[in-house]
Amino acid sequence: MCTVCGCGEGKLAGEDHGHHHDHDHAHGHHHHPRGHSHDHSHGHLHFGTGPAGTSVPGLSQSRLIEVETDILARNDALALGNRRVLAALGAYAVNLVSSPGSGKTTLLVKTIEALSATPLAVIEGDQQTENDADRIRATGAPAVQINTGKGCHLDAHMVGNAMDRLALKPGSLLFIENVGNLVCPAAFDLGEDAKVAILSVTEGEDKPLKYPDMFTAASLAILNKTDLAPHCDADLAAYEANLKRVNPAIEILRLSARTGEGMGAWIAWLRARHAAKTLAQTSAKAG
Ligand code: MG
Ligand code: ZN
Repeated sequence: MCTVCGCGEGKLAGEDHGHHHDHDHAHGHHHHPRGHSHDHSHGHLHFGTGPAGTSVPGLSQSRLIEVETDILARNDALALGNRRVLAALGAYAVNLVSSPGSGKTTLLVKTIEALSATPLAVIEGDQQTENDADRIRATGAPAVQINTGKGCHLDAHMVGNAMDRLALKPGSLLFIENVGNLVCPAAFDLGEDAKVAILSVTEGEDKPLKYPDMFTAASLAILNKTDLAPHCDADLAAYEANLKRVNPAIEILRLSARTGEGMGAWIAWLRARHAAKTLAQTSAKAG
């Protein structure tokens, strides 16, 4: 089972399906998992009263910590492999995370339209269906759909396989739409350059306080569906104050993917990050 989220998953997805993969499967037992602290004094990722922060019948707390550390350490090794592939290509990867229904796929469709000439590709994660990948492919952009089945997050192994299938062009933008879930995707590094958390203004101003790990892990928060704000008495300043309380460094953009309002700033954010990565790769080659 996934001790991070309690979702019933047994291991890194695809671990035993025989697909040849070049990544280093080193077991970093002594490596401290990135983005996941075992000092639970802050209450992050804490689901239970024991030191493991979760409880599973028949497993001791120390054994649970071992299992969780092992899963995340193996994930981190694979994420490092993904990050190396992306760096060699000068490709910039964004991991889009949110609750279900925040408007990730609509935002992506509009983003792809706005970026027209930029080489890009999309990895879609959902428990079931090809619906979102179909919506992306309708724009002409290449997309791979990952179905996680019972799993509730993407892991670095799934993303590495999808990257192989996409055969990314140098200097690409890669969008990874994670499974709609604000809990365990915070703990699973996919090798991305940035996590972008999307929050629709209909979700409630205290969402960042309820799910602090995700908003701590994100570089940017997008407040989406701002066109609906007047209809649901959403207090945008309160959303922003709560985001900053949880993560003082987080950048925040307000937009409506539906009306296009605020999209320019998001596209500019992407272009600036993308250009910096491409430049870093070019100078690495030259040097
Ligand atoms: Mg979607
Ligand atoms: Zn999960």
